[in-house]
Amino acid sequence: MRVGPPAAGLLKQPPTGRPRVAVLLPLPFPGPFDYAAPPDLPAPPLQPGDIVTVPLGRRTETGVVWDPERNLPPEFTPPPMKSVADGRLKPVIARLDQPPLPASLRRFVDWVAAYTLSPPGLVLAMALRTGTAAQAAPALGWAVADPPPGLRDTPARRRVLDIATHDGPLTAAELARRAGVGTSVVRGLADAGALRGVTMTPRPAFVRPDPDHCPPALDGEQAESARALRALAAEGGFSVTLLEGVTGSGKTEIYMEAIAACLARGKQVMVLLPEIALSSQWTGRFARRFGAEPALWHSDLGPRLRRVTWHAVADGTARVVVGARSALFLPFAELGLIIVDEEHETAFKQEDGVTYHARDMAVVRARMDHAPVVLVSATPSLETLANVGAGRYRHLVLTARHGGATMPEVRTIDMRAHPPERGLFLSPVLTEAIRQAIGRGEQGMLFLNRRGYAPLTLCRTCGHRLQCPNCTAWLVEHRARQILTCHHCGYQEATPPACPECHAESSLTPIGPGVERITEEARATFPDARILVMASDTLPGPAATADAVARIARREIDLVIGTQIVAKGWHFPHLTLVGVVDADLGLGGGDLRAAERTVQLLHQVAGRAGRAEAPGTVLLQSYTPDHPVMLALVSGDFESFMRQEAEQRRPGFWPPFGRLAALIVSADTPEAADATARALGQAAPRGDSLQVLGPAPAPLAILRGRHRRRLLLRTRREVAVQPLLRQWLDRVTPERGARIDIDIDPVSFL
Ligand SMILES: [Zn+2]
Ligand SMILES: [Zn+2]
Repeated sequence: MRVGPPAAGLLKQPPTGRPRVAVLLPLPFPGPFDYAAPPDLPAPPLQPGDIVTVPLGRRTETGVVWDPERNLPPEFTPPPMKSVADGRLKPVIARLDQPPLPASLRRFVDWVAAYTLSPPGLVLAMALRTGTAAQAAPALGWAVADPPPGLRDTPARRRVLDIATHDGPLTAAELARRAGVGTSVVRGLADAGALRGVTMTPRPAFVRPDPDHCPPALDGEQAESARALRALAAEGGFSVTLLEGVTGSGKTEIYMEAIAACLARGKQVMVLLPEIALSSQWTGRFARRFGAEPALWHSDLGPRLRRVTWHAVADGTARVVVGARSALFLPFAELGLIIVDEEHETAFKQEDGVTYHARDMAVVRARMDHAPVVLVSATPSLETLANVGAGRYRHLVLTARHGGATMPEVRTIDMRAHPPERGLFLSPVLTEAIRQAIGRGEQGMLFLNRRGYAPLTLCRTCGHRLQCPNCTAWLVEHRARQILTCHHCGYQEATPPACPECHAESSLTPIGPGVERITEEARATFPDARILVMASDTLPGPAATADAVARIARREIDLVIGTQIVAKGWHFPHLTLVGVVDADLGLGGGDLRAAERTVQLLHQVAGRAGRAEAPGTVLLQSYTPDHPVMLALVSGDFESFMRQEAEQRRPGFWPPFGRLAALIVSADTPEAADATARALGQAAPRGDSLQVLGPAPAPLAILRGRHRRRLLLRTRREVAVQPLLRQWLDRVTPERGARIDIDIDPVSFL
């Protein structure tokens, strides 16, 4: 088996014998393996992109015939691998009856692997995920039947029936998963006659969206921006455009015009959203504009729907796909446009497995498919603004809210001057404002980006703090479920009645608020208000989130209390007051982007207020009302704020003016972690244009029982960090039980 560049040429007859073919397997090998082309394969001969089965040891694996030339910049070229003699080559078993992986996607896989220093097979795995499994027999789906008399009504049953009504028929497993219930609930409804079984058609109909279905009436700067985007999409070719506009300025309507132009040109569209919970509202808007729903792609899709969608994208049946970051790796037959909505969101950074930033990789994918990409945000990232400043990206700006709505007024509440009562967390200034909003028949929202009841539990007798046994982290109390849980590893235990250390009873005290504790306070303060909590652990999935959003829109709710899920692009027309419980929360920790991120998040939260006729007010509870972040939020002058941010990062070559790569050592024992980290430190590259920080214990020094150390490589922008890192890693052998993970362009510094 021979790997790496450049192979002797695909299917070229080597002097000694059999034709070779390189096959990339979705496994963590450094490159493709050579196989012998099967002698009896029906025509045409194997081509790059063909999906094949091959022997690997005693197993049979599915892989993709890979290109002999990898087409990568020289600094990316992967290391050569050992060659296998002709006589030992094993033949390809079969070619699967699947659409081949397009050339642009193969190049993208190679590029992402080289950029992130990941085995290309692991990147390929994302492109193949469940897409290539053989066709299964038609499944039994469940649809709603006429409700039988006397049917027992429970919230769980109602959720299942709701989903079956709107999205049915679905398999029992899919129904149960989306409703967040056990399959026994579905079975019970079927037994009671409320659901009827139907044979599922092997693929859902992907209705073609009609670009002329219902075009919006746009004028002024909106019409101008829409025209510019339409022209780019109609013309095709690679370009990057930042569409920047205040919340509520109609950015979605405008980029949908680019989608219309792309569809009219007969090309496909990829839309990336940071959070798939947003997709239900987005899908509704899309359907009103185009008269058909887009295809969805996210981790919550059942295996059947994933397979069907993958094929529909590959054969061009699905014209528009909206999805989470993994949609980047779909086999588009003719991709003509990429949209990245909320491009500043850190959720676009994948932190597990292959670590990549979906926004940045979307730009790469667009280049490979010769397509325009539009990055959309109310508060663009400094990275994107720097690219605009350097003339690499185009820039379209919307300054006014759509339909005459005004921007909300933002004020800080100085918590030193207006403190809450002892043991409470809401200032009287804020509670009074909420009371008035509810009294006027409007809605209020309280935002706190922290799940659970309290972030820390402490024994008043001995001072013991309840800590996760697997991580350097406090256990978070979730009072409704009577558990303590670790938000890093998922460890759970029942809330103990006494201190586990000194056994004092009733001595455990919650410190600080989580969203549950704020809810408790709000229920006591506003006993008549209809309160809804929105947090990722109280809403089991997109369907439940959509349901919550619909209830808010129907004015069944007076006060919404939520974590960052409420900050997303929701449109709540009756919401006029937003209270941020702890505006200082994100500023601690010394993260490079802490200030930028806090401004982006809080501005987005603020943007939920006053989106219709009634003006909105946003109140920020802060102990540091003079902090530049608070001043920027109050004045709404983000341009100056971002300019200041840029000036702070420029001199030290911090991103976006330099490059960062994190090396994370993790090991079974602290000794192995230290020894490996020390070896890395000693072998570190040196030079004027770079600096290595660390090794140092990671802030999460223990995670899931593994001991962690970090190093950070910081270089000038013009330095290619990949070859530097590769040579560095070649000089170090990790200790037994230790591992080194590389995170290029890190976002998290835990
Ligand atoms: Zn104690
Ligand atoms: Zn933990």
